[in-house]
Amino acid sequence: MLIDPHTHSSISDGTDSPSQLVANAARAGLAVVGLCDHDTTAGWAGALAAAASTDVRVLRGIEISCEVDHVSVHLLAYGCRESDVALQAELSRVRAGRTERVPTMLARLAEHGMPIPDAVLQRYVGDSPSVGRPHFADAMIELGYVVDRQEAFSDWLAEEKPGYVPRYSAALEVAIDLVHAAGGAAVIAHPWARASRPVLSEDFLKTLVESERLDGIEVDHQDHDAATREELRALAVRVGTLVTGSSDYHGTGKKDHELGCNTTVPPVLEELDRRVRARGGLL
Ligand code: AMP
Ligand code: FE
Ligand code: FE
Ligand code: ZN
Repeated sequence: MLIDPHTHSSISDGTDSPSQLVANAARAGLAVVGLCDHDTTAGWAGALAAAASTDVRVLRGIEISCEVDHVSVHLLAYGCRESDVALQAELSRVRAGRTERVPTMLARLAEHGMPIPDAVLQRYVGDSPSVGRPHFADAMIELGYVVDRQEAFSDWLAEEKPGYVPRYSAALEVAIDLVHAAGGAAVIAHPWARASRPVLSEDFLKTLVESERLDGIEVDHQDHDAATREELRALAVRVGTLVTGSSDYHGTGKKDHELGCNTTVPPVLEELDRRVRARGGLL
């Protein structure tokens, strides 16, 4: 039973529509696929409708843009009630921050000789209410400025690069409390990828578990090498939190993140389900 609880559709920065994602999940032999678009629940309905005619279970997820000490941390939320007003208000605030930085990013890239016509950017944003740097990267590829998303990030869009413009992110503890209040379970995505390792120390994670905030951490992820995974797995046992694994699939938008390349074991999903049920969330 293959469980891949963290993937993206074109409702954020993936390239499959929600229904294509479900079809690809079925083709990949997944029993469960978690749709975790960035800062939006807008893809859920389409994915659930598509799943109705398959054996695939769609897990309602969100990858929420958070921060700890001004460092970006991604939080996976599972099973939240879509109608929760406070959670949706915070997601709207994060998306507004994404939209508000667009003109500044366009100006920065133009200053560096890479003008992007609105229509080109819009082609990649498509149906997404959650505009992100990968959409800029795709426009830059089409315009011949870079060869792939990776180059767009490493030369222009990553933090400290000329095209980077900061945006609003939720405080991690605030986001976790909103997720729990909406009936959901909270799992930190790829905690030791990129810059987040220093702020997500064992002591910090332990405090989050002890205050009954954190439900789990994502250990098996392509941004963690084998040694990091082993360290995190041992840490999870010490602090007493659940361990998940996922592909973080983005369609053709991310190489080496194929559906099912990392998975979560069934007892962990059962425990997440149990907690969501106990909190009145949506399975
Ligand atoms: P944003 O949502 O605008 O903050 O952009 C962050 C998203 O860009 C992440 O969720 C990843 O999907 C993607 N991303 C971040 N770093 C890279 C990279 N180096 N190469 C390709 N995609 C990346
Ligand atoms: Fe992404
Ligand atoms: Fe992420
Ligand atoms: Zn992701």
